[in-house]
Amino acid sequence: MQYCYVNQTTVQLTYVQQALMQRDGSVLRITNQSAPEAPPDQLPLQQVPRPNTRHQDVKRYQQLKLRAGLAQSLLVFVLIFALVASGLTSTLEEAIRNRTGQEYAVLLIFALILGVVESIVSFPLRYYSSFLLEHRYGLSNQTFGAWLWQRAKGSLVGAPFFIFLLALLYYCLDAFGPAWWLPVAAVLFIVSVVLARVAPVLIFPLFYTFRPLEEGPLRDRLLALCTSAGVAVRGLFVFNMSKTTKKANAAFTGIGRAKRIILGDTLVANFTDEEIETIFAHELGHQTMNHLWTMMALGTLTTFVGLFLAAQLYDASLAWFGFGSRQTIAALPLLGLWLGLISLVTTPLTNIVSRAHERRADAYAVRLTQNKNAFLSALNKLGRMNMADHAPHPAVEFLFYSHPSLDKRIQAVEAL
Ligand SMILES: [Zn+2]
Repeated sequence: MQYCYVNQTTVQLTYVQQALMQRDGSVLRITNQSAPEAPPDQLPLQQVPRPNTRHQDVKRYQQLKLRAGLAQSLLVFVLIFALVASGLTSTLEEAIRNRTGQEYAVLLIFALILGVVESIVSFPLRYYSSFLLEHRYGLSNQTFGAWLWQRAKGSLVGAPFFIFLLALLYYCLDAFGPAWWLPVAAVLFIVSVVLARVAPVLIFPLFYTFRPLEEGPLRDRLLALCTSAGVAVRGLFVFNMSKTTKKANAAFTGIGRAKRIILGDTLVANFTDEEIETIFAHELGHQTMNHLWTMMALGTLTTFVGLFLAAQLYDASLAWFGFGSRQTIAALPLLGLWLGLISLVTTPLTNIVSRAHERRADAYAVRLTQNKNAFLSALNKLGRMNMADHAPHPAVEFLFYSHPSLDKRIQAVEAL
């Protein structure tokens, strides 16, 4: 499941994904968080005194975000490795077994305890990266309580999925032997399609309020654009992104009847109609060129290949830690470690495809609107508001950026 954003930001999905995959702050999306400067009272951006977003500040902000994300990933990796290698996970499994004989109960309690330990250990870095830094650079609109609640809600929403997948994994390990990865990957594929279908309607509204874009010149413009692009968009929504952040964004979400384009209220408030039109056209580009489906297919491929590889590595490494069989509950965190390592390879590969999509959607936006200047101005404004690094280190961009850097996008658009 992949959503496309016009700038380097993951927005509403962050909470859902982090809950589902338990990997927020991982190297997967650190540099994609960016941000500031939103007008206090819905004034157009141009009329609002700018916070001092100097070049060094942007660099510093992105650098700190990146470091915090890397440190977070490393910390979790070391923690899990230490727990497995020291035999503590085996001790824990035994202790739980002494209280209950039910296999799945042991599994769930084991996962719960490990989850709580992981949350406690990584809390300081999470707090630093997603609350403290955001406030220090004037990007957040959230109180500490609201931030905490949003995270708790993310965990609660993700819990049923997580429990289901864990039980499924355990069942398949038992029932399918060395071929366990195949049914797990197949079910993950189905879950991702279902999620893409229902998330915009059922999950996102748990975190933000969505309202249809009101009647008016902007709506007329955007609908006219849909017609000229030959796209039937079922929903055109504004969501209260300002509830949490001063950053701005737009996205194309969902498949089938849940297909909708969503615009952050921060975007609607700060951008001219012409600029919004170009951003919207970029999202339409993703739609007409089937980028969502391509990313889902790619995600499916990496899931199958990744799980297959993880299964082999997991089997090979069980003996290193003295585990007798792959169904040993205490050994399962090891599987998580392998999956994490494999994603270090698959994520940059996916990002290559994603950046190519973004370049094409940019070109499409200019072609459709015939308004290069408005698009350039929109890109610049998004970069400022989201404190995006215009020219990150090429290695950082290659590994972590799902969108080309701002400088590259601007150069490419100018050259059109
Ligand atoms: Zn995009």
